[in-house]
Amino acid sequence: MSLLKITTFPDTILRLKAEDITDIDQELIDLINSMYDTLYEYEGLGLAAPQISVSKKLFVIDTKKYYEDGEKLLLINPEIVEKEGSEKLEEGCLSVPDIHCEVKRAIKILFRGYNLDGKLIEREAEGLLARVIQHEFDHLNGILFIDRISTINKHKIAKDLKKLKEKG
Ligand SMILES: [Zn+2]
Repeated sequence: MSLLKITTFPDTILRLKAEDITDIDQELIDLINSMYDTLYEYEGLGLAAPQISVSKKLFVIDTKKYYEDGEKLLLINPEIVEKEGSEKLEEGCLSVPDIHCEVKRAIKILFRGYNLDGKLIEREAEGLLARVIQHEFDHLNGILFIDRISTINKHKIAKDLKKLKEKG
């Protein structure tokens, strides 16, 4: 098992647009395994490569650990093709420790991306899985959940963010 260091706000790597992955090689497979180890260690639902300072289009998700109808999912070069509906729910992020806030997201999405075999998958997701995919997908575009919260909530968390900034 190998654990990776999680990059936290306000590190600028979290703000970069991640690059396409061109090769699925052993190095990438090792990285993915370490990302899963790290995800489980820190009890997250998802982890995107920029969160471990690798600016590449890749994320791992596992909602199965906490929810009976959950799922384990890994996506390379993902895209969100369609979004439907919207709902506000509380979110957190391993890269923005100790802050939780309501974020508006689509309820249902159509997404695609490559799996470890290099096969393109396209399918729908809804509810929690759709939310986690949207959250992780944002990381690949340099967007954090705190960018998507209401002005009132931004004021509420301003102090905590300042603390993180001073620490970082
Ligand atoms: Zn996150």
